[in-house]
Amino acid sequence: MSDSRLEDATLHAEKLVRDERLELPIDLMALAHSRDILIEAKPESAKGVSGMLLQVGNNFAIGYATHIKSKGFQRFSIAHELGHFFLAGHPEHVFKGGKLMHESHAGFGSGDQIELEADHFAAGLLMPSHLFKAEAGKYSDGFTAIEKLAERCEASLTASAIRYAELTDAAVAVVISTGPTVNYCFTSSAMRSIRGYKHPLKGSLLPRDSLTRAFNQTDSNILSARREDDSADLITWFRAEDEIDAYEEVLGLGEYGKTMTIITAEFSDED
Ligand SMILES: [Zn+2]
Repeated sequence: MSDSRLEDATLHAEKLVRDERLELPIDLMALAHSRDILIEAKPESAKGVSGMLLQVGNNFAIGYATHIKSKGFQRFSIAHELGHFFLAGHPEHVFKGGKLMHESHAGFGSGDQIELEADHFAAGLLMPSHLFKAEAGKYSDGFTAIEKLAERCEASLTASAIRYAELTDAAVAVVISTGPTVNYCFTSSAMRSIRGYKHPLKGSLLPRDSLTRAFNQTDSNILSARREDDSADLITWFRAEDEIDAYEEVLGLGEYGKTMTIITAEFSDED
């Protein structure tokens, strides 16, 4: 039930993009302006709060957090708040009981259904599938595509990577990790259809011999946003039954304190 609500939230945003004939990068300020929504940067906000939606009389205002400097993160936060404005039932829900302010935790880290719906709306708004796929087709699979798409959409690398895994035809996995541990993993349908595939669970250990595991042993790799790549083994990463050539690209995410790994399979001998 909840899954189709999440998908609907993405579709709602994509329809908005088409109806309003928006182009990449989506101009959130203009969209908000067209609905008389005021947007303001909040220099200080409670830790963990990404943004807020306020009701001011009959109008709405959005405040977004600036403690994380990434423009992509800030845009995702604004798009999340726009989700609470545009999605059916959201204004009623977030302002129920006469509340005048809703504080958000954007970025797919929340377990709350309403927050997740707003996250899916944000992903669909900043990275609508029709524009995103057309753009993705211009680049080679893996990290290059993710990086170019993040630039083009003015989205964070992480958001771009997650969306890429969702929409690409390539066999790709995006793993976010800290130290020896998997924080979360998103994979494309082509990767999931590899024989024997087992999904790395949240909290599980990174493969012992992986580049990522070695990379994470040096803190400065993460802080200085170091980048490394090497061939990868899908048997140890995903319990694949067959040996398939793959590539592992690793990037330290700086102040975010985590590491992003992109694993791309190459099917040159098959099909
Ligand atoms: Zn929210």
